[in-house]
Amino acid sequence: MVEAIAERLTVVREKIEAACARAGRSVDSVTLIAVTKTFPAAVVEQAIAAGLRDFGENKVQELTAKAAAIPPEKCRWHMIGHLQRNKARQVVRCADTFHALDSRRLAAALDRQAKAQDRVLPCFVQVNVSREPTKSGFLAEDVGSFLMSIGQWDNLKPVGLMTLAAHWQSGQDVRGQFRQMRQLRDRYEHLGGTALSMGMSGDYELAIAEGATHIRVGSAIFGPRTRY
Ligand SMILES: *Cc1c(COP(=O)(O)O)cnc(C)c1O
Repeated sequence: MVEAIAERLTVVREKIEAACARAGRSVDSVTLIAVTKTFPAAVVEQAIAAGLRDFGENKVQELTAKAAAIPPEKCRWHMIGHLQRNKARQVVRCADTFHALDSRRLAAALDRQAKAQDRVLPCFVQVNVSREPTKSGFLAEDVGSFLMSIGQWDNLKPVGLMTLAAHWQSGQDVRGQFRQMRQLRDRYEHLGGTALSMGMSGDYELAIAEGATHIRVGSAIFGPRTRY
């Protein structure tokens, strides 16, 4: 498993380098978040041994369990999945960064918990750029008004925008979604920050071409997941 991770990671890193070179970007401008959902803490340890530092989880229970199992100085945790308000406390306790801020009520809950725990939580605002009814996130036209009110939550620090591209669409359309994200970021960076969390195993090269600063890659590093 360790070798398999290291081998796949080499391939991913080469593709990241090539995508950065094509886009005239430095590799340091892209943070690779290794998505360890469904994999046990032992796999996170192996990934750390292979040189990874940033890890993504989409379920609070898995995040808290793995964050408890791994010494905190060895890694950074990114909560990348939709969050129920009643679990805000655990995310503020365990996550370095939250990628799925998708409602005012969730912002209020996270801010309250961050105040209680005396910390500032860096947050990406999630955008439903593909406009799929099943996806969370603000529609593009609602991002501006949300960001204009984000200053009221003192203990949230907006760092950028996040999206999940629609998978059923062609490569060209996925790139168009990433481009729209970049345009939204350019328009609102004075309110919402400069980062762009976008791109997964199937589309991270396209995301880098459109300016992704954080890519969230799971199966390309860890192999196929047996659950969801
Ligand atoms: C699972 C997941 C990923 C990674 O997916 P892969 O296709 O395995 O790379 C990225 N982002 C989110 C929000 C996820 O839930």
